[in-house]
Amino acid sequence: MATILDGIIVRDHIREALKTAILSSLQAGAPKPTLAIVQIGALPESTLYIEQKKRFGESIGAHVEVVHLDEESTAQAIRARIATLSDDTAVHGIIVQLPLPSSLQPETQMIIDAIDPKKDVDGMTSTSRTKLAAGAMSGFLPATTRGIISLLAYYHVPVMGKKFTVVGRSALVGTPTAEALRAMGAEVTVAHSKTPDVAALTRGADSIIVAVGKPALIGAHHVSSGQTVIDVGINVMGVHSKPEDELPKRHIVGDVDAAAVAPIVKALSPVPGGVGPLTVASLFQNLMKAYTESQQRK
Ligand code: NAD
Repeated sequence: MATILDGIIVRDHIREALKTAILSSLQAGAPKPTLAIVQIGALPESTLYIEQKKRFGESIGAHVEVVHLDEESTAQAIRARIATLSDDTAVHGIIVQLPLPSSLQPETQMIIDAIDPKKDVDGMTSTSRTKLAAGAMSGFLPATTRGIISLLAYYHVPVMGKKFTVVGRSALVGTPTAEALRAMGAEVTVAHSKTPDVAALTRGADSIIVAVGKPALIGAHHVSSGQTVIDVGINVMGVHSKPEDELPKRHIVGDVDAAAVAPIVKALSPVPGGVGPLTVASLFQNLMKAYTESQQRK
């Protein structure tokens, strides 16, 4: 049976390490690490994610400032507000909470590029993306990618010289994860929606990362013994599938059919409780990196 790669344990380790590092900075008289989250509009899921980030930030002694902008704001106005945050020496990291309201979505990258790359703790600016695509790990890794790498590292899953198949090639998860693994010396293959035979690419890998958003996409025939499988997918099940009084409780599953895969592979990250808990922790590791580098520039 597969070893379960528990992300909550790793998240708690990261939390403690960040707490200790921040406490010692504050004791040395340094300012509080500060993250600015720019929220445009008031999408309820986004508000929930922001609350989570705020709670985590406060639990480690960082300051999280939420900058609310009206849904009707123009891209120019948003860029100007972000530029002010970029110039503010009391702010060490800036993120724009996505998704943007639909009218602004075509301008997402242009808006994100107003963030000073030194404060780009989501690793989403063109500067950060280009750096990672060129194989440099010295910049900011997107939070989910950083979480995946932390999970692999904590459980000593070898990367250098190993074959990885990444299923999914989004700009948010699949692509930066494939690039980071490549930069770490892995031999990486990427499968996507147009790949004719995904199983042919996953079966021969040492490790598989799945980030698609389709429940039970990866089953027994996709895997082989000795593999590590990281399931990034988040699929909310049990919504509107039955009449109101019979509604099953909402629950979350990944992209991997865990019951079918666990008896075969060596290690598997669960959903929930695998990569998910690490995303917010990774964002604050990035904030700490931005903060430390800004202190060093002084
Ligand atoms: P996306 O929709 O932007 O990209 C999905 C990718 O899957 C695409 O590259 C597409 O080509 C590929 N794909 C679609 N169908 C496929 C198939 N049948 N076979 C192989 N590839 C296929 O999604 P995303 O933003 O990358 O997110 C992927 C999943 O990860 C979602 O479930 C999302 O909720 C989850 N997610 C989790 C975290 C976390 O912290 N755990 C963070 C971000 C995203």
